[in-house]
Amino acid sequence: MQSLQQLLDFDRLHIWHPYASMPNLLPVFPVDSAQGVYIRLMDGQSLIDGISSWWTCIHGYNHPRLNQAAHAQIERMSHIMFGGLTHRPAVELAEKLIALTPEALQQVFFCDSGSVAVEVAMKMAVQYWHNCGLPQKQRFLTIRNGYHGDTFAAMSACDPVNGMHHLFRNILPQQYFAEAPQISFDQDWQDQDIAGFEALLAENHDQIAAAIFEPVVQNAGGMRFYHPEYVRKAKALSEKYNVLLILDEIATGFGRTGKMFACEHATVCPDILCVGKALTGGFMSLAATLTTHKISEGFAAGEAGVFMHGPTFMANPLACAVSLENLRLLESYDWQSTVRAIESQLKDELEPCRSLAAVKDVRVLGAIGVVELQAPVNMRVIQSRFVEEGVWLRPFGRLIYTMPPYIIQPSELKAITSAIHKIAAQI
Ligand code: PMP
Repeated sequence: MQSLQQLLDFDRLHIWHPYASMPNLLPVFPVDSAQGVYIRLMDGQSLIDGISSWWTCIHGYNHPRLNQAAHAQIERMSHIMFGGLTHRPAVELAEKLIALTPEALQQVFFCDSGSVAVEVAMKMAVQYWHNCGLPQKQRFLTIRNGYHGDTFAAMSACDPVNGMHHLFRNILPQQYFAEAPQISFDQDWQDQDIAGFEALLAENHDQIAAAIFEPVVQNAGGMRFYHPEYVRKAKALSEKYNVLLILDEIATGFGRTGKMFACEHATVCPDILCVGKALTGGFMSLAATLTTHKISEGFAAGEAGVFMHGPTFMANPLACAVSLENLRLLESYDWQSTVRAIESQLKDELEPCRSLAAVKDVRVLGAIGVVELQAPVNMRVIQSRFVEEGVWLRPFGRLIYTMPPYIIQPSELKAITSAIHKIAAQI
């Protein structure tokens, strides 16, 4: 049996971590187990989780209902191929997703991760126009500061600077980028904010298959909250210029912004919707791309006769069974009030950060609290400081933010906001 130090040494030299170098230059903290909102490190320390394992774990870790659903499904089969076969977990989960999402979304494509859900959405849009006899529509319109995943098509729609597009310039598809929306969630709307988006559509709609962006909250591209009217106007403009609208709700879906889906702030139904992350309550990886009859109906008569995508682990029964239970769990309590209570506590307790010298802005929407700093954080220092304070957060760039599990108690959330204030005050 390896000692803790041997384990860490091996990890540092041999295992890639997300957005890390090799050998890894930043500390990683070894986890023994996790329960509720607590992450237990191998040295015995407990951390309160403030980011829900990258926004997935809305009901905390080791939830008995999710565990039970997984156990029951494992006894039947944990996996079976989806080509030529189907199963109850996939059908029941698809029914649930169709019921929860805007009404016109009626068809579900299951896949393994958020990035792949975005790839599927983009491919679906291109193939749709091919089916319609407009094969030249193969490019995408998006907005700066977006993030859609790390695979090539998804990356091509990420912010060109944050996404390091110059590194991959000869292989990345070239997309159209409108300026990021400037009017924040509760400021007064002005049509000027979407003028750049419209100008790009007006000029290039013949080439554009779809507009793709994250509705209302831009997450990994800057934790920005923008006006829902932007989404409404973008939908109308997409229709006017004959392009599809893809909304990426991988981060915002399942209640995080205070609505089940962020597109509900704008009462907009996209042509294609991507979901992932909290879909399984953070239990395991699963994502889905939903679309309408209008989009799907032409595929059989198109050149390929089918939609050209079919991953090996598509609709993995174990992931579907856990997801279904997670969504039933979400529906079993008044999550809207829970998220509102988190929102109001975050507003009260993060607001004092605004007066700190190092802080540029403080913003809260739903169960998302953001403290934007004047300068980028030093990850090596700040990550360890939060661990010393007993909380788990993962700041990036100029952002310290929290997206806690919905089951967090007020005293636990207070520990997170206090740590944020304390550490921001020391910068
Ligand atoms: N879209 C959005 C909005 C995301 O936030 C993410 C992940 N942070 C992705 C897509 C990619 O998801 P995954 O990491 O599961 O591939």
